[in-house]
Amino acid sequence: MAEAVDLLFRGATVVSMDGERRVFESGYVAIDGGRIAGVGRDEECGFESPHTIRADSKVILPGLVNCHTHLSNGITRGLFDEMPLAEWVTRGMWPTLRANTEDTYYAGARVALAENLLGGVTTTAVGEFGTPNPGAIDGVLRALTESRSRAVVARISADSSDEHDPSQSTAPDARESIDHALSEVTRLRRTYGSELVEVVPEALGVLRCTPDMITEFTAYAKAESCRMTMHVASSPDERDEARHRFGTGSIERLSELDALGPHLLIAHCVWCDETERRLLAESQTGVSHNPVANLMYAAGVAPLAEMLQAGVHVGLGTDGASTNNGQNLWEAMKIAVFLQKSRWGAEWGSAELALELATIGGARALGMAEEIGSLEAGKRADLAVVDIDRAHLVPRSTWPSNLVYSGNPHAVETVVVDGRILVDAGRLTMWEHGDIVREGNRAAEVVGDRTSLPEAYRERSTWSWIR
Ligand SMILES: [Zn+2]
Repeated sequence: MAEAVDLLFRGATVVSMDGERRVFESGYVAIDGGRIAGVGRDEECGFESPHTIRADSKVILPGLVNCHTHLSNGITRGLFDEMPLAEWVTRGMWPTLRANTEDTYYAGARVALAENLLGGVTTTAVGEFGTPNPGAIDGVLRALTESRSRAVVARISADSSDEHDPSQSTAPDARESIDHALSEVTRLRRTYGSELVEVVPEALGVLRCTPDMITEFTAYAKAESCRMTMHVASSPDERDEARHRFGTGSIERLSELDALGPHLLIAHCVWCDETERRLLAESQTGVSHNPVANLMYAAGVAPLAEMLQAGVHVGLGTDGASTNNGQNLWEAMKIAVFLQKSRWGAEWGSAELALELATIGGARALGMAEEIGSLEAGKRADLAVVDIDRAHLVPRSTWPSNLVYSGNPHAVETVVVDGRILVDAGRLTMWEHGDIVREGNRAAEVVGDRTSLPEAYRERSTWSWIR
């Protein structure tokens, strides 16, 4: 007799991303109690459900994992185009952080979450500043809680500043004590922690945090068995300044502080040498590779090929909408592979590799591979159903390639997180898309009025604007 489950997809091409990378060309996915009850060949399906969805001609992928973003940036997109990193930090980032409120953070997070979810992203690793505007991060956590999507949210802290390098500076009102930072992390963990959302500490970087902050955050993460995140080796300036100050690269510096390990996820990692890649692999430190953001602010091309060869746990991220500018993980997949082709030749990589990095690879980098990243019985039920009967995905015979190399988020039809349908027929089920856009634009005006950044954007234009 068939076993009854909450939700059942049948007849789909199911990409499991399990250890053998099995693909069931006519398969099923059974979901019960938020977890996957079974995956396999459709003709062997031993499940039934009052909520059965025929998914013939669709592809079911594990939900995508966006390993690095800043959701609140959903409303500051475009304001910093063509700004060098140092200018972006001093003229863009700090004034914007000051101008935001809990409500504008909430609006920005809803915009970015909508983009992520509609593109099949079920888990986001999010970084948000706890300063200089203490309550603002609550807005992001409120939006995440409502969205019912999965997230690791890092509360970003800094307690010092680099005097030589403006791109590594910290505004005085953005610095905070270690005690204050960790008590706020604890408050947020207690207030918003759930099956889906975990709040963790972030020590922003080796040039903006004292050694004490890095080691005490590391101790906190280990004591709480939670992640910790950092922005590391993210620009040539940071590389040079780290060598000047410490005589080593940023990652070697973290190793000296005993801060590397499976608890840590570092974003960017553009500038790491062979020794540092070995340290990352041996310590099982996770890395979020953010190829589009790295290109946007001219950070360089990360040694993705070498990191993978060394055995580093790498996932893919978009970064926030103010340095990307979209939340399009499909684009990150394509660019990640194409950038390495430009270094190593056309034979490097594959669309399959890109899909692995965006699913099980990201889960591993986040230390969540036991729970998400593949479609296997017992794991949390996070998946994306993609319609491959789209013009940009013809011909069917090469659909894995087409999804990545010709991919865009618009072919995603259904998204399930923890067994709940959050996107149905390409529409969000928990929010009105029109509200998100309207409130996002309104919040952007509030922030714009306080920073004059929209006028600065207009002043850089070479077009003749006629009213
Ligand atoms: Zn970032």
